[in-house]
Amino acid sequence: MIKFKNVYKKYKLDKSILTAVNDVNFEVDDGEIYGIIGYSGAGKSTLVRILDGLEAPTSGSIEINGKDISKLSNKSLREQRKKIGMIFQHFNLLWSRTIIENVELPLEISGINKAERRKQAEEFIKLVGLEGRENDYPSELSGGQKQRVGIARALANKPEILISDEATSALDPQTTDEILDLLLKINKELNLTVLLITHEMHAIRKVAKKVAVMEEGKIVEHGDVYDIFQNP
Ligand code: ADP
Ligand code: ADP
Repeated sequence: MIKFKNVYKKYKLDKSILTAVNDVNFEVDDGEIYGIIGYSGAGKSTLVRILDGLEAPTSGSIEINGKDISKLSNKSLREQRKKIGMIFQHFNLLWSRTIIENVELPLEISGINKAERRKQAEEFIKLVGLEGRENDYPSELSGGQKQRVGIARALANKPEILISDEATSALDPQTTDEILDLLLKINKELNLTVLLITHEMHAIRKVAKKVAVMEEGKIVEHGDVYDIFQNP
């Protein structure tokens, strides 16, 4: 379970303080697809960086399975970060590496030997539907296929949580639906907790069970997607 409790993130600007995350509280159950929706500047990316341990909160606690990640040592935090996979709007693939080499990258960093990481990478490439494209380069793939590589790479270390940070925002509607279907499949087959960060209501409606609406650093509403987005 993920639990944000009274989380604040304040940035010191020249002459003022900007509160990017303002008293955020929410909980995500294991195996759930949880959406966070909000306009640009709402604080979503800051929340993600805090959850991924890239930034410490100014105050408050972020528990993952009962452990407050803001209190971990650097070594424990590195271990914790392996349990989180991330996918991005612009895929963040390495263009000079083949598809399989991209997927192997996190396994290489984890110190897994070549034979084993090749085997695991092949397994995830198959899961995302890119079997046969292992030795192609990212530039040879469509946007949707590039995001499939991103997903395979995010899964390589067998994380407990997958964070999708605007992962469909650069894709056309049909490709968006294909990627969302893939996220649903992965959530089911791997029992993975998925945090879906987006400004697209459609994405939330299609896959998320619960949603938090962010505005100016605050969660202004949260609950079941059906209740929150019910048309009047
Ligand atoms: P979103 O992801 O919803 O677009 P962000 O989390 O990127 O929102 O940003 C929330 C607010 O915090 C914005 O006003 C942004 O300018 C500000 N912000 C984000 N990161 C920093 C930073 N490192 N320093 C100063 N301000 C920041
Ligand atoms: P954009 O909104 O421009 O698509 P991204 O979500 O792609 O932004 O991330 C912006 C940058 O932050 C990227 O260049 C990426 O390399 C870096 N980044 C943020 N979080 C992580 C992470 N957990 N692992 C690797 N890179 C990260």
